Amino acid sequence: MSSQNTPSSSGTNLDPWYNNYAERAAGLSVSEVRALFAVASRPEVVSLAGGMPYVSALPRELVIDAMNRVMVEQGPVALQYGSGQGVPKLREHILEVMALEGIRGSVDDVVVTTGSQQALDLITKLFINPGDVILAEAPSYVGAIGVFRSYQADIEHVLMDDDGLIPDALREAIARVRASGRTIKFLYTIPNFHNPAGVTLSASRREEVLQICRSEGILVLEDNPYGLLYFDGPPPQSLRSTEDEGVIYLGSFSKTLAPGFRIGWAIAPHAIREKLVLAAESAILCPSSFSQLVISEYLETADWKGQINTFRGVYEERKNTMLSALTEYLPELSWTNPNGGFYVWLTLPDYLDTKQMLPRAVKELVAYTPGTAFYADGGGRNKIRLSYCYPTPDQIKLGIRRLTTVINGEIDL
Ligand code: PMP
Repeated sequence: MSSQNTPSSSGTNLDPWYNNYAERAAGLSVSEVRALFAVASRPEVVSLAGGMPYVSALPRELVIDAMNRVMVEQGPVALQYGSGQGVPKLREHILEVMALEGIRGSVDDVVVTTGSQQALDLITKLFINPGDVILAEAPSYVGAIGVFRSYQADIEHVLMDDDGLIPDALREAIARVRASGRTIKFLYTIPNFHNPAGVTLSASRREEVLQICRSEGILVLEDNPYGLLYFDGPPPQSLRSTEDEGVIYLGSFSKTLAPGFRIGWAIAPHAIREKLVLAAESAILCPSSFSQLVISEYLETADWKGQINTFRGVYEERKNTMLSALTEYLPELSWTNPNGGFYVWLTLPDYLDTKQMLPRAVKELVAYTPGTAFYADGGGRNKIRLSYCYPTPDQIKLGIRRLTTVINGEIDL
């Protein structure tokens, strides 16, 4: 055995293979709050932390019926390997869903993935060399930050306000990165009901962001798992609906149907799509045939638009409950007012550290996600992401009351 392959006996890490990992494995770090979340999953704790869809609102008989029909009528296909790009019939259905967001395309443009999380991973793998820059909103989706880090990307945050990404901040970030001699590979953005910020990119800013990226030659990665879960009215048209060549769009059935299927998709410019299929085949051979056929059957036979409407009602009621409770108990603080999706972004006085405060919150039987999870640069110390998607309205009220006790305790110190 060469010395390189000898298990490390250095005392810094209990893993004997510590010295053998590739450099990129260093980007895979355990979330500092994961241990607390394990505690937070105790039934007596109200968790406003996770982004779990309320799947109980989905009539299970409809899924069981779809599953049964798939197994009876197409069992051998459902149980077999399939196309790396995804089942053609499902890709047709995905185009129907996409038409609701103003996106037109052909079945060939769609690549089915194992959740949109896998699409994030594959796209990052295709584009990022260590040290390349990804522009991402400040804050951004924690799961995307994790993927970007695992490929050793440098994440450059771009400021947002209540109308989403600020175009001037985007221009400044591009200039800053280029002045430092680094290469920007893409802009990652969540234009609708942002995770975690809850805000939506305005129509005029969509135009401006596209125009900036077009003129600067920057690819856009538009991540839109929440777009159909709007409350008052649909968000402005997706970026991909006005720009085919410069935008990769990511969609998912996780929030509009159920994440357990692990089915999402990418719609990408032709050349990128071909690479994406090759990367997907190399990673997983093909997405689950079973999941794809069941979803396809469900979309064909169930009132899926009505079902999405039901989800909208559930989430809107929960959001209203959360905002009323915040208004009642924490009127001196500020928070975002999402017009869809799962999340409210709460700002505390800037001398507070929400990660340090979390153990106290868990002691008070309430959990949240501290803001620093959503920044690659240590920002967000006084921010909190509150999810209203999973707890019932009564639990939400109770959770905000408990959170108020914790915050007031900190403010009084
Ligand atoms: N993007 C965003 C913004 C998300 O919030 C999530 C899930 N929380 C994902 C992507 C991944 O979703 P999935 O893999 O279940 O499609």
